[in-house]
Amino acid sequence: MLSIQNLTKTYPGGVRALKGVSLEIPPGMFGLLGPNGAGKSTLMKILATLLEPDSGSAHLDSLDLIADKNATRRLLGYLPQEFGVYPKMSALDLLNHLAIMKGITNRGERKQLVEGLLQQTNLWDFRKKALGGFSGGMKQRFGIAQALLANPKLIIVDEPTAGLDPAERNRFLNLLSSIGRNVVVILSTHIVDDVRELCSRMAMISNGELLIEGAPAQTLEAIKGRIWTKIVPTDSERESLEKSMQVVSTHLVGGQHEVRVYSESSPGLGFTQVDAELEDVYFLTLARHQRN
Ligand code: ADP
Repeated sequence: MLSIQNLTKTYPGGVRALKGVSLEIPPGMFGLLGPNGAGKSTLMKILATLLEPDSGSAHLDSLDLIADKNATRRLLGYLPQEFGVYPKMSALDLLNHLAIMKGITNRGERKQLVEGLLQQTNLWDFRKKALGGFSGGMKQRFGIAQALLANPKLIIVDEPTAGLDPAERNRFLNLLSSIGRNVVVILSTHIVDDVRELCSRMAMISNGELLIEGAPAQTLEAIKGRIWTKIVPTDSERESLEKSMQVVSTHLVGGQHEVRVYSESSPGLGFTQVDAELEDVYFLTLARHQRN
């Protein structure tokens, strides 16, 4: 269990990136969802021992992640937002090199580990290819392979699917879910679907504050039966709805605006009640937070 208590961080310029965040994170996939600038990377960097918080604590079982950085690094797998690679090296050579750096000195053991990881991340066929020629998805999968080198107990993945095409994203998410059963995996993302598809538990942060925490299905309960949609043909009609109702989101469907509204009872003629989705929770929670 990862236990985070009251973490705060203010950057030198005065930005309060974390304002006292507490979270209990069990083994499995945990989604940390929030818009850009919410404080996700700051939290991830603190947990990955790359940044010192101003106050607060984080423990993985009995290990103090903030005080005992060396021990933390030994059991941590970290995939940062942008994973830099040496463009001219092959995947096999770099992974082998990183394994040596991690202290896996036994040649046979290392070979077995490196080859196994290249297979697990579906990079075996490309193992001799220079990393500079890898697609975004392949680089991210290589990032996972290197994060898994040390048989980590805590895996931190920061905004991994931004910039991946749908097929690459799918492959990447499947890979994450296959490793996320027995260890704590924290997936930081602004993409609601990443969390919906993958995570058994989630939290939302914005502006350095924790807004909600729970199982995705549980967060839906509060708005169940209260989401309504209507196709609105004109911009002016959409604007007038936005003034008179609590509009959750507007999507273009076949060139027309489909408006999703939060309402305890039917908002009026032409509206249909639909299943609440995690994206509705996301937008409503953010809107409520911004109003306060
Ligand atoms: P997220 O990962 O959710 O996009 P970040 O943790 O990167 O959010 O940023 C949180 C806030 O802290 C933002 O307002 C951002 O501009 C600010 N910030 C991040 N890094 C720094 C830094 N090194 N110096 C000053 N401000 C920073």
